[in-house]
This record gives sequence, structure tokens and C-alpha cells, in this order.
Amino acid sequence: MTTARPTHWPMDSFPVIDDCLWIGGMSLIQLTARVGQTPFYAYDRRLLDQRVALLRQTLPSAIELHYAIKANPMPALVQHMANLVDGLDVASAGELKIALDSGMEPKRISFAGPGKRPAELATAIAAGVTLNLESAGELEIVAQLHRAPGPRPRVAVRVNPDFELKASGMKMGGGPKPFGVDAEQVPDLLRRIGELALDFQGFHIFTGSQNLHAAAIVEAHDRIFELALRLAADAPGPVRLLNIGGGFGIPYFPGDKPLDLEPIAANLQRWLPQVKERLPQAQVVLEFGRYLVGEAGIYVAEVVDRKISRGHTFLITNGGLHHHLAASGNFGQVIRKNYPVAVGNRMAGTEREVVSVVGPLCTPLDILAERMELAKAEVGDLIVVFQSGAYGLTASPSAFLSHPACREVLV
Ligand SMILES: *Cc1c(COP(=O)(O)O)cnc(C)c1O
Repeated sequence: MTTARPTHWPMDSFPVIDDCLWIGGMSLIQLTARVGQTPFYAYDRRLLDQRVALLRQTLPSAIELHYAIKANPMPALVQHMANLVDGLDVASAGELKIALDSGMEPKRISFAGPGKRPAELATAIAAGVTLNLESAGELEIVAQLHRAPGPRPRVAVRVNPDFELKASGMKMGGGPKPFGVDAEQVPDLLRRIGELALDFQGFHIFTGSQNLHAAAIVEAHDRIFELALRLAADAPGPVRLLNIGGGFGIPYFPGDKPLDLEPIAANLQRWLPQVKERLPQAQVVLEFGRYLVGEAGIYVAEVVDRKISRGHTFLITNGGLHHHLAASGNFGQVIRKNYPVAVGNRMAGTEREVVSVVGPLCTPLDILAERMELAKAEVGDLIVVFQSGAYGLTASPSAFLSHPACREVLV
């Protein structure tokens, strides 16, 4: 008797030649030799280009695309993205430096995130980027830091909406939240921005992330536009920037399907004339992290041991949760599920077996794949974790257990 189990969405963006995965126009074996060590992450420029092109073709052309660089702040990748998108979103002074180094115009960079320190705010004001204000306290610090004849601080209000994005992997709006200013407190904040004569830009309304349900995103966009139009009545100046967040998800786990962009695009198209009429100067922005870069990256680790424990085969690799916390299931997952994993140098293999792939850390949390069917692998083979371009190395506790550092390449 067999029960149909959900499977991973096919990872067919990377070619397979002679049973070996190719990336960046070379075989994984050649790339591994070029990198000179395992483990490493590799990000594919061609796939980054294709993803941005897909969004440009599908979404209304009036919508601007921003890259939220916390998903992957590798400087070479940010540089590449800066040439493709209309703006960058940063969440620390460290990310701001990478964004400015990319050559992106400062007025196309916005800085969000709670708890910005005065030194970070001062840097951002001097750079002339837009500050997405997260609280009334932050507004007062910005006003104090402003010294004529320096540029007037450009500020937008990050709004904690009075609704939640349904079916979102990670909710970041609605209810009590550390992010943004509660919608009901925004009119007072707008008044204060007017009193302080800061350079008001608009609103940033981010409701959540990793959403694979187009209908939920459509509904969120409806609520976001309604809220923005309502809040604009109290704005101290014209709304120039209307950042409606991102939240588009990618298929990670068995049963996940890619997001259908068409209904989202049609709904945006439906809203744009009304936004144009009521907020004629407003540029509508979508900001994405994982949707832009997540599917363009792989993580590669090498099998260093094979062992059988009470009938179950373990492949022990030199990579693990210290480099890829999300694949281990410890970055916001409630129930651990496997990322798509393969043996990169023998994709189909001659024999298949069910194994668990683990890392070298002395903790039972260090799992890259649990009871997955893979090609039968030997010591020296290359384990590939797909969907690893976002929240990979940057979101992992690299110092945990003092193993060697991971490398990253853009190919
Ligand atoms: C993290 C974050 C993003 C990116 O989210 P993704 O799920 O990677 O698209 C966008 N905007 C803000 C404000 C964020 O904090």
C-alpha cells in the first residue's frame, strides 16, 4: 500500500548534464574546484536577471521594484541587483554601506527596522536616504540630529496596519508588533512630522513574508491601498512613496507551489488609476528579498562520512546549520520540513536510498535533510541544498562551534 506523499516542486532552473548539476555555465565539480573549498554558496546571475525580468513582464510597468538586501547582503550580489531594480531597502547601517557602495542613488534607498541607533540615523540623514520611521521616539531623534544646513531628513512612516496578511509564513503587521507605528497613531505622527518640517515621503506598509497564496496577497494589497488612502488625508505633504511591502513566497517544502503572479498583477493594475488620481505624486513600490534571490542560490557541502545507525543511513557533511540555519529547520519553522536537497554530482544516481543528511555540529538540530530519498552517495560527493539564495549564510550562526568559514560566489 502506498500513500501519495507531497513532493518538492521540481528544481529545474539548473541544468543537469551527465548526471551532474551545472551552475553558471560550469559543472558543480568544476565550480567546486574553482571555489577551492567546500562548503560554499553559489548564486547564479542569469537566474537573478530572469526573476527581475519575469516581474517586469508581469507586473504593471508603473510599479517600482526594490531589493530588500537583508535577504542576501553579499556585496557582489547587491551590486548586481542594484543594476536591475529601482531601489534598495536596508535594515542597518552595515547594509546601508553596502547599498551606497553599489552606486544606487541615495534617494532610492530606504532604511527600515526598529531600534535604529542615533549613529545609524545620523549616517542615513547625511547620506540622504529615506528613513522609514518605526516609532514616535525615532522621529524625535531624527529631528534632533538634523542640523542646518545639512539636507532635511527624508522620512516615511512605516505603518503597522490594523489587519494581518493571511496565510503568511511570517507575520509582520497587525496586532501588537515591534515594527512600524500602529495605524491609529499615524495621524499624530504625521502632524508631528509637519511641525518638525521634515521632508515627508510617504508610507511603508509591510504585512508579512513567504506567502504562496495569490488571493491572500491580493486581499492584503486591497487593504493596504485603502489604508494608505485613508492615512494620506493627514499627511503633511504630498505622498511621494507608497511602499506596499512584498511578501511573495517561493516553494521550499513538499507540496509548496510557486506563487501565481497574474491575479496579483491584475489587481495592482486595477488599483493604479485610483492611486494616481488621489495621490498623483506617489510612486508605488514593491520590495522583495527572497522572491528575487532565493531561487538563484544553492548551498554545497561535501560528504565526509557515511554511517549506519540502527538501520538508518546518515550522510555526515562538512556543512550544516552554522551556515544554513533555515535548511536545518530552525529559522522560523514550527514543524521541520526538508528543503529540496540532491547529490549534485550524481543527481539521479545508479542506486537510490533513504538517508538523513547531517552536519558536523554536536547538536541534534544540525540536519540538512531528514529521511529523504537521494542518489546513493559516497564520501567526497557534493550535497546541494536548493532555494538557498536568501536567508542563508547571513541568517546563520557562523561562529557556533568554530568551524571554518563558508565561501560565497556569484557566478
Ligand atoms: C525582511 C523584509 C523584507 C523582505 O522579505 P522577503 O520575505 O525576503 O521578501 C521586505 N521588507 C521588510 C520591511 C523586511 O523587513
